[in-house]
Amino acid sequence: MKIKSLLLITILFVGSTFSQQVKSPSEFLGYEIGSRFTRHHKVVDYFKHVSNTVSNVKLEKYGETNEHRPLYLSYISSQENINNLDNIRKSNLSQTGILEGESDNKTAIVWLSYNVHGNEGSSTEAAMLTIYELITNKKDLLENTIVIIDPCMNPDGRDRYVNWYNQVKSAPFNTKQDAKEHHEPWPGGRPNHYLFDLNRDWAWATQVESQQRIKMYNKWMPHIHVDFHEQGINSPYYFAPGAEPFHEIISDWQRNFQTQIGKNHAKYFDKEGWLYFTKESFDLLYPSYGDTYPTYMGAIGMTYEQAGHSRAGLGVKTDEGEVLTLKDRAIHHMTTGLSTVEISSKNAIKLNSEFKKFFDNKNLEYKSFVLKNDNEDKTNRLKKLLETHEIKYEYATRGTIKGYNFNTKKESKLNTSEGDLVIHTNQPKGKMVKVLFEPKTKLVDSLTYDITAWSLPYAHGFEALASKNKVNSVKNASIENVINSIDKNAYAYISKWNSIEDATFLGALLQNKITPRFSSKPFSLEGKSYKKGTLIVLRNDNRAINFDEKIVKIANLYKRKIQSVATGFVDAGLDFGSYSVKPINKQNVALLSGKGTSSLSFGEIWHFFETELKYPITILNSDYFSKTNFNKYDVIIIPEGYYSNILKKSTLDKLLTFVNSGGTLIAIGTALNSFADKKGFALKKKEVKKDSTKYNLTPYADQERKSIENFSPGAIFKSKVDVTHPLAFGYTDEYFSLKRSSNNYNYLNKGFNIAYFNNEAKSVSGFAGYKTLKQIPNSLLFGEEKKGKGSIIYMVDNPLFRSFWNNGKLFLANAVFLLNSDTIK
Ligand SMILES: [Zn+2]
Repeated sequence: MKIKSLLLITILFVGSTFSQQVKSPSEFLGYEIGSRFTRHHKVVDYFKHVSNTVSNVKLEKYGETNEHRPLYLSYISSQENINNLDNIRKSNLSQTGILEGESDNKTAIVWLSYNVHGNEGSSTEAAMLTIYELITNKKDLLENTIVIIDPCMNPDGRDRYVNWYNQVKSAPFNTKQDAKEHHEPWPGGRPNHYLFDLNRDWAWATQVESQQRIKMYNKWMPHIHVDFHEQGINSPYYFAPGAEPFHEIISDWQRNFQTQIGKNHAKYFDKEGWLYFTKESFDLLYPSYGDTYPTYMGAIGMTYEQAGHSRAGLGVKTDEGEVLTLKDRAIHHMTTGLSTVEISSKNAIKLNSEFKKFFDNKNLEYKSFVLKNDNEDKTNRLKKLLETHEIKYEYATRGTIKGYNFNTKKESKLNTSEGDLVIHTNQPKGKMVKVLFEPKTKLVDSLTYDITAWSLPYAHGFEALASKNKVNSVKNASIENVINSIDKNAYAYISKWNSIEDATFLGALLQNKITPRFSSKPFSLEGKSYKKGTLIVLRNDNRAINFDEKIVKIANLYKRKIQSVATGFVDAGLDFGSYSVKPINKQNVALLSGKGTSSLSFGEIWHFFETELKYPITILNSDYFSKTNFNKYDVIIIPEGYYSNILKKSTLDKLLTFVNSGGTLIAIGTALNSFADKKGFALKKKEVKKDSTKYNLTPYADQERKSIENFSPGAIFKSKVDVTHPLAFGYTDEYFSLKRSSNNYNYLNKGFNIAYFNNEAKSVSGFAGYKTLKQIPNSLLFGEEKKGKGSIIYMVDNPLFRSFWNNGKLFLANAVFLLNSDTIK
């Protein structure tokens, strides 16, 4: 053994003295870049080869995807800078105030991110070309610049696309747009494993890829961030400067330098005669993109878009008759990448001094945001999100403050207590605080690419106030540790119900064969009062030997405070033996997926059950959905989607039978189209009044702007909630909903209107076209139609949107667990 290992050491030693020559991507892979799609593991191999061969490149693994593919960052700079990497990083952070101390950092930090959308495949190929150019022909640029390359932000999505493409492509590749290789099947390689669009997830960090990347991003805080994408095959190339609307906090420097960068790229594109455009389509507003997030963190954040994505394959004929090849696509992306490094290197000192200025946050309008801590679980969720972005928070002291009240939309007073959350804007991430918290985003143009409202107090369901004066606060609050103990004399254990964490706990109880009940009325017992929905776990329902040990163990694990009581005789409300204290069944949940369903909406629900509730579900596919025996399930969820080919009359009839026999059918967002105005269903579409002008006299050039009259890109509306209905247990009588579609429905005349927009409903934050605004009053948000032993739940707005609309999630959990749960099928 000893001899063997000695030998191995010798071989390793000899190996390292003969420094290898670094290979180009083509030499390493054995084929020319652009002639094939490179699978992710081969890309990783190439980046490893470079960092193992060249001493001025460092490779760091920063995480792993859901499907266990590794995530890497490559640092490329001069030898001196690479030796000094951590000091430069710290010196940069000192400029922002994140780290203490003075600094005069002179090194530019440029971060290039590739392939966030997995089927926009040229960019990862370009990443390999770019690193090779940087370490060979462009070494000079590295003297004062650190380039950070993330060769593939979404490896699961990329390999989904590449594996499919490799299986179906013709040899040689077929350039006809009709060819199968240009028609990627559902769900496509764009999203990650849970089918989330990672380029909508930067600020909310709901996905593992984002969480791990943002940690690295905040460690570095680069001066430039480029997100490489691909767009339709007929739009040649887009680069900075971006389009209006720009968020108001974007500085003149950030605007100007975008133009300088754009002009530098244009120089190279002009020389080759390549087509490009700027200042159109891609705005800078919604904070969760790979361009806006870095921008609000002080960088010049940009999106570059090459013609291509999965429509292009290795080569496709565009509408203009030209053949667009993967090779050209990769070279264009390499060109803008290198041009970005070049212009940054030329401006390294200015980039640093302007970056430093961005972090002066003394003059922001609101000095503090204060959030009432009425729900510890919600508060913890928000704290976790703030920690992800390294945003500092403190706690209120007892007192009264004045400011803009998010709920009433008026100046008013708020009584604060210890434990209420205070977030000041005068901190390094102050501008991001403003963007994420301010009640209304200033819009200079309403033609935008995405939702126009996302304010966190609404999304998380907090009573909140924005103050123009700095509010008093303390750094720490006392945190109670949850430790429950066994009570062998307990008649029952009681646990609250007002958060997703409570629903996760319920899911764990059910999976551990514990049957809880819930009270449909408030009650008081042994000096304590309990709200509707409170979980009651009776000894009588759970006669297993280790019942006490089991429930205490689970409660401690999920940090739930459970109260043991000696009697079921309540002081007020319903006794525990009442018919209205209903058992909760271990619901068998089926979720529709596949062609027709919105992959995003399906992914949100899948992700919610798997990663938040941690409750198993059965995923059904749309191609055999109609043949499924629905009676095996208690709940069927239909995500957003377009189902004219799937939910035909015979399938709708089958679903009605399922409901009549005790099932719960939950339909979300655009799925409601398939039930509205159909025989057997009470849902009715709201009639849209016809425009009285018979002829369209809008000038041709204004048509796009006119079209937004009917449009709601995503605005927040206040709804009324019937808190006596189990779907709303854990909620208060007002709920802020993110409305994204102009489909509106009448109140149900048969059934329960649980959440709805009354005749005063208007937009609280964000843009909605004036015609859309007129349709929202007196329309349904969430309703239940009772049928036989079961019911249909209509959710007009998606309660899980991008998984960041946290306050909607409990509605879905209630629909699954608290409705028709006691029905014996
Ligand atoms: Zn993209």
